Amino acid sequence: MTSVTQRVYVDGPIHEEALGMLRSATEVVPEAVELGSALPDVHAVLLRTASLDAEAIERAQSLRVIARHGVGVDNVAVDVAARRGIPVLITLQANLRPVAEHVFALALAVSRNLILADHTVRDGRFASRDRLIGRELSGATLGVIGLGRIGGEVARMAAWGFGMRVLGYDPWLSPGRLREREAEPVETLPDLLRACDLVTVHVPLSRQTRGLLGRRELASMRSGSILIQTSRGGVVDEDALVDALRSGHLAGAGIDVYEAEPPPQDHPFFSMAQIVLTPHTAALTEQAMRRMAVDAAKGILDVLEGADPYEPPDGARWRAFGPAAGPEE
Ligand code: NAD
Repeated sequence: MTSVTQRVYVDGPIHEEALGMLRSATEVVPEAVELGSALPDVHAVLLRTASLDAEAIERAQSLRVIARHGVGVDNVAVDVAARRGIPVLITLQANLRPVAEHVFALALAVSRNLILADHTVRDGRFASRDRLIGRELSGATLGVIGLGRIGGEVARMAAWGFGMRVLGYDPWLSPGRLREREAEPVETLPDLLRACDLVTVHVPLSRQTRGLLGRRELASMRSGSILIQTSRGGVVDEDALVDALRSGHLAGAGIDVYEAEPPPQDHPFFSMAQIVLTPHTAALTEQAMRRMAVDAAKGILDVLEGADPYEPPDGARWRAFGPAAGPEE
């Protein structure tokens, strides 16, 4: 670390362990100070949900590193940070397991009618349980779109944990890489959609993936199949999904991310019993909250001490965002 005391702004709350790490080596700006007024004098920002837009980054004249508590960089003007030579760190491994587990929480909730089943017991309608006959994941075919960190973990859990047949579509990965990740490679998206009982999406939101699952693609899904969406709102066309569910073409859906967050109160999803909704909580586990904070804090300390953000030290669980980390919008 340089001899000048490094000041770190934490857009909290974050896990205590990470705060302790930062406090032991830097001066952490007191909680009551707002980001806007702290910016001109800080050397690092650990960023949860606040935004660092172009104007904010321009004002932060001492800023040397920004670390995201997670992987999305939608709330940072990354181009301006890059122009100023300020790396934006992301915590690559912190939340892949919880998101992958959430996919199965949603898949089971939809295929076993879990929400309706809960209401049935509470409402004293136990005897009507024959209306809740579900479907097993075991033996079903799962289609994974995007076989990166999360999609790869989902494929492994589906094959090893649930005994599913897994098909994978990812034009940026070789068939060999897909097989390593327990997915049988499929060449085109329509081929995958036609062949699966459940489909789950794990691509970043970009100009290429906005509307990736639109009306035509949903129509080519197998009749009676289920869609799980935990990637980013905008990858699935919500109006087209509502129509595909209303017509009965799709049997159900599990959704964690939305075109607008929160979705408007009159959103058609809210009146549809065949959809299970969660409020962008796929990555929110106690363990992941700790990992995201600790990995981001470590990234800040490493970079302030001179580590190359683009060539992190061996074993680092952070990395500077760049084209190789995925073309987020
Ligand atoms: P990743 O970069 O490791 O993997 C993304 C994969 O998508 C890559 O292998 C890429 O080749 C592939 N891909 C890109 N365009 C594609 C296309 N058109 N068709 C098929 N595949 C394509 O990313 P990741 O860490 O696995 O994250 C995936 C998504 O999950 C991201 O959108 C991320 O924002 C989202 N996410 C959501 C939550 C949540 O809380 N719901 C949490 C973390 C991440």
